[in-house]
Amino acid sequence: MNSWFDRFKDFFKNKYVLISFIVLVLSFFLVFLVYVVFVPKIIINGKEKVVLQYNDKYSENGAYVLGDDDGVEIEGKVDTSKIGEYEVVYKYKKFGITFTKKRIVEVKDEKGPDLVLTGEDEVNVCPNRDYEEEGYKSVDEYDGDITDQVVVNREDDQITYISTDKSGNKTTVFRKIVKEDNVKPVITLKGNSVMYVVVGSKFTDPSVKVVDNCDSNLEEKVVTEGNVDINKVGKYTIKYKVIDSSNNTSEVTRVVNVVNKNTTNSSRGIPGVIYLTFDDGPNSGTTNVILDILKEEGVKATFFVTMRGPDSLIKREFDEGHTVALHTASHNYKTVYTSVDGYFKDLNKVSNRVEKITGVKSMIIRFPGGSSNTVSRHYNIGIMTTLTSEVLNRGYRYYDWNISSGDAGETKNKDKVYANVVNNLSKKRANVVLMHDIKPYTRDALRKIIKYGKENGYTFERITMDTPMVTQRVNN
Ligand code: ZN
Repeated sequence: MNSWFDRFKDFFKNKYVLISFIVLVLSFFLVFLVYVVFVPKIIINGKEKVVLQYNDKYSENGAYVLGDDDGVEIEGKVDTSKIGEYEVVYKYKKFGITFTKKRIVEVKDEKGPDLVLTGEDEVNVCPNRDYEEEGYKSVDEYDGDITDQVVVNREDDQITYISTDKSGNKTTVFRKIVKEDNVKPVITLKGNSVMYVVVGSKFTDPSVKVVDNCDSNLEEKVVTEGNVDINKVGKYTIKYKVIDSSNNTSEVTRVVNVVNKNTTNSSRGIPGVIYLTFDDGPNSGTTNVILDILKEEGVKATFFVTMRGPDSLIKREFDEGHTVALHTASHNYKTVYTSVDGYFKDLNKVSNRVEKITGVKSMIIRFPGGSSNTVSRHYNIGIMTTLTSEVLNRGYRYYDWNISSGDAGETKNKDKVYANVVNNLSKKRANVVLMHDIKPYTRDALRKIIKYGKENGYTFERITMDTPMVTQRVNN
């Protein structure tokens, strides 16, 4: 049997064949030896295949040849601001031959775009409304602004936003929609919270204003509790209640005082109380000193102001707890008593001034010359009769006085001012004292008047909307 080994042996029995074979093997070995010994080997520092992210820094680590570290030249640049595959070629010259080796650097974008939602990722929406997209923005490091390519999907109460860049990197964000209304309606009174109406007149409820975050037309759903009997003097409370469609409730109340037109009775009010009232100001040099004295004595007073003097003094009156009331803007008899419209136009002017300074609309007034004045007859017969009733219809309260300090003209002496006041005080009634904070002698008499009152068991109060009106007899 001829095995392959027998045939192999037969083959080499021929010595020429054997010699040729040995020569061939030796030649190969020689070539290999030459390659190993003489052909230079370029060795790359680091990896031959490098992967970098977009905008990463590429550091060239170089290459060397054993025994000749400096002989390697580098060719090729890596730009990491552009995605792609770069070749860095290392060259080495020997025997006039150039030997090369390559490093492959791949710059990739594997980072997803920066996708940001405008607004919260959980949004409360009124149950009766639909969510309106609040917006989003997607910026990719490589592609730039790709907001217009964002894919938005709404499924029930969840919105999915997906942004994909050119390299296929994805960013996904979610927004949750919560259909819920926990916000109460805002109910506010139109008109004043405390109103005064004359018995037997007509009372028109100024009603309320309702603003709600979800519902409109809630004003139609306001429920009113309480009635005003316009024919019966008394204090009435009206409650306004409103419920929105998510059952949030709000309410507000108003007090309506039905009063006698003729509260002219000087004995009304709290007996033994002194209401210091100052007209015609404010005025620099007097009002500020009066305010200092009142502060030091811990006494509150009432200022019936005009357009005169600096705003800062009215601000101080208000800030220091006094009542800022209205006298009229011009204090000119012809201007205010020629017509009803003329009066209210002038009154509104000072009313706006006070509201602008204090933030509060004052409804407490005093007529120039008092309600009993006769000077108005020169301009309009019967105007005080009309005005005294019309101001009440419009919700104002007006106050005259039952003690005059005489400082309006007749007295120019601080001792006389003092005597005029203290000699007329009474414990049996409320004492409304007429003074003028524009007068230096009133300023100089004030401390002594307050001392007298304190030492003789009087108390001092300011006029508020709850103070019973002290009024004089109308003479025109
Ligand atoms: Zn006056």
